[in-house]
Amino acid sequence: MSATKNLTTIAIVGGGPAALFMYKRLVESAIQNVEVHIFEKKDRLGAGMPYSVEGACDEHITNVSANEIPLIHTPMTDWIAEAPKSLQEHYGINPGNFNDYKVFPRLFFGAYLTQQFEALIKFGKHVGLKTTVHLNTPVQDISDDEISGKVKLHLPDAKQLIADRLIICTGHQWPKKFEEKVPGWFDSPYPPQKLAKSVNFPVAIKGSALTAIDAVRTLARSNGHFEKTADHRLNYVLNKESEGFKMVLHSLDGLMPAVRFHLEDTHLSQGEMIGEEEGWKIKEANNGFIPLDLIYQRNFLQPLRAQNPVFYETVKDMTIEEFVEEMMRRREKLDGFTLFEAEYKEAEKSIKRQESVAWKEMLATLSYAVNYPAKHLSAEDMLRLKKVLMPLISIVIAFVPQTSCREMLALHKAGVLDLVPVDKESRVDPGEKGATYYHTDENGTAIQTAYNMYVDATGQPVFTLEDFPFKSLVEGGTVSAAYINFKDDAAGALEMELGNKLVKKNAAGHFILKVPGIQINDQFQVLNAAGAYNERIYIMAVPHIGGLNPDYSGLDFCETASARIIKSIKPGVDALALAAADDIEPKVA
Ligand SMILES: Cc1cc2nc3c(=O)[nH]c(=O)nc-3n(C[C@H](O)[C@H](O)[C@H](O)COP(=O)(O)OP(=O)(O)OC[C@H]3O[C@@H](n4cnc5c(N)ncnc54)[C@H](O)[C@@H]3O)c2cc1C
Repeated sequence: MSATKNLTTIAIVGGGPAALFMYKRLVESAIQNVEVHIFEKKDRLGAGMPYSVEGACDEHITNVSANEIPLIHTPMTDWIAEAPKSLQEHYGINPGNFNDYKVFPRLFFGAYLTQQFEALIKFGKHVGLKTTVHLNTPVQDISDDEISGKVKLHLPDAKQLIADRLIICTGHQWPKKFEEKVPGWFDSPYPPQKLAKSVNFPVAIKGSALTAIDAVRTLARSNGHFEKTADHRLNYVLNKESEGFKMVLHSLDGLMPAVRFHLEDTHLSQGEMIGEEEGWKIKEANNGFIPLDLIYQRNFLQPLRAQNPVFYETVKDMTIEEFVEEMMRRREKLDGFTLFEAEYKEAEKSIKRQESVAWKEMLATLSYAVNYPAKHLSAEDMLRLKKVLMPLISIVIAFVPQTSCREMLALHKAGVLDLVPVDKESRVDPGEKGATYYHTDENGTAIQTAYNMYVDATGQPVFTLEDFPFKSLVEGGTVSAAYINFKDDAAGALEMELGNKLVKKNAAGHFILKVPGIQINDQFQVLNAAGAYNERIYIMAVPHIGGLNPDYSGLDFCETASARIIKSIKPGVDALALAAADDIEPKVA
């Protein structure tokens, strides 16, 4: 496979949402003398994992509504009016009364994304961007040649492509540890079709957030059905042959995720993030680090002050630790499902009145804003972020859609869905069939429960360097394991003494904290072990950069990361402004 002479060749590996947004940036940037090759191992572009049968059945829904989706080509609402009738009917979507604020089926969204990719490619051709799509083509390996300044993609049938730039968009991966070896053990709920089983016993689910809800929705439909009562309530009725069926969620301290509410800013203030220049200034003034407390002030407390001054007054003098403790205490006071129901009612009001729940929205903004400076945190602050702030953030930003809440509450009322609080030391061991769950309850009693079926629903695992799929990049030293420095060596020494195995000493004798995934810079370029960035290779595959990009993987991440990358590929492009400008909005004539 040969690249065209005199053209810069850009290869995109993976053809899911990240690739779609990256390609959109290339089209919008009006980049010249470039040819793009897109490699996708499946037979279609756009849908990726969550929005195709790999990640969804008919019952699975997005956690974003149409008004929260960054513009791709055609706004979702316009596309719905033009979507094939069969698709509209299958998903019960009526363009006449489609509500911009509602979430929708993931497979339906996948059809939209696929169509958007096709439309963009058409538009790309229109503006002279030569594009070749390689479907059913898994990229098997990638190697980098510093001398020629080229990257080599190794393809099936010993084919190769030489590229000048490469963007790795390989997305989600769900490794199997015991699945297919131990009957009844599932390392993830994906593809969810595998859980569509009629069972007559309790099923253990690890986790209680969106991934767990995906498992619940499929299992519930395979063992009973939902009925709407005359007064619009939802009931769940078990099938006769599934009388012994129930689902037992296991979550840390019995916490349930927070419910979707009305967002004041549907795109979470992307303009408010610390920019590159500001970041460097902050680092200069803070011994080379961006302090977590500064981000907390800037992206949580200050916007909160503007949105809800009364609430701000109650928390403004708290440290991050005190604030999180207070919010967790409020959650832990109530039993998981009681709080879930109360939050559902609060969220319903928020949606009806179109009024945000300010502190939760600001926390979501903070989680977004902390993502990019995260690689500039000190190890001390990274530990605080992970141990203190993230547990609260991950509960709040789950944004469980209303329809999922109603189903969860109906299942709980029918006695088919329970929640077991587990401790940090809890563990699950495979049995001959299914698994045994070990935990200690609130009274300190050790509990051990055997289940015939077990689903790990804790979400996308983050990977280490050893898991990186393109081995030549690892062996050639092009990519390296991610770490961050301690601000104070004494703090590193203490953390090591306390038994944190991720704390190491570097060659210069300073303490570092190993974090998952590979090293990247602000432009999502990979770094070698010496810390030098590779000007050819970019990565947007979240599971492999989770250490330095700790919290975000959604569509807004695809939008923002691709903006950073295009600015690096084509300096001078203001990609965020580009996306907003009407005159260059890509529309095929
Ligand atoms: C179950 C689930 C539901 C989600 N729901 C939402 C939501 O509602 N809203 C939201 O904002 N975010 C959601 N997310 C977050 C999600 O990460 C993003 O929306 C999005 O899917 C990320 O896109 P991606 O392209 O990085 O990854 P993926 O969707 O995984 O796409 C990667 C693509 O690369 C291909 N590929 C992989 N390896 C190779 C290779 N070697 N060669 C060629 N092709 C390859 C794959 O086949 C796939 O098509 C969800 C995530 C999950 C797991």
